[in-house]
Amino acid sequence: MSLSCSSAGCGPRAPLTAEQEQILLGHGTEYPGSSPLNAEKRPGEYHCAACGAVLFNASTKYESGSGWPSFWAAEPGGVATRRDTSHGMVRQEAHCAQCEGHLGHVFDDGPPPTGLRYCMNGLALDFRPEEPGPT
Ligand SMILES: [Zn+2]
Repeated sequence: MSLSCSSAGCGPRAPLTAEQEQILLGHGTEYPGSSPLNAEKRPGEYHCAACGAVLFNASTKYESGSGWPSFWAAEPGGVATRRDTSHGMVRQEAHCAQCEGHLGHVFDDGPPPTGLRYCMNGLALDFRPEEPGPT
């Protein structure tokens, strides 16, 4: 399976900030409500901030009330998970399938049709709005 990329320049756009490295490489978590992507509602694609892989489409984003950008489905092949038993909890850790950068966690209390809640750190995501078509 190959990851398609509809945006120009599929790689990362800029070097990661210290905060982004703390999340993607250090499994950190941003403060809830801190991401401007919480309010992002435009159509487009969410890419991995580290490697540029396509992770989510805006059509699967929803308001979970958690304070983190949330999605009910990931792009095929974009996100991989593993069991995470840190902090005394059993969770599904979500990471970029391509570069293994940490993204957030997946919970099973999401909306239909999947019942999943991809609870993501906005700093791990690079939102690229859909280009308006030629007029
Ligand atoms: Zn990545």
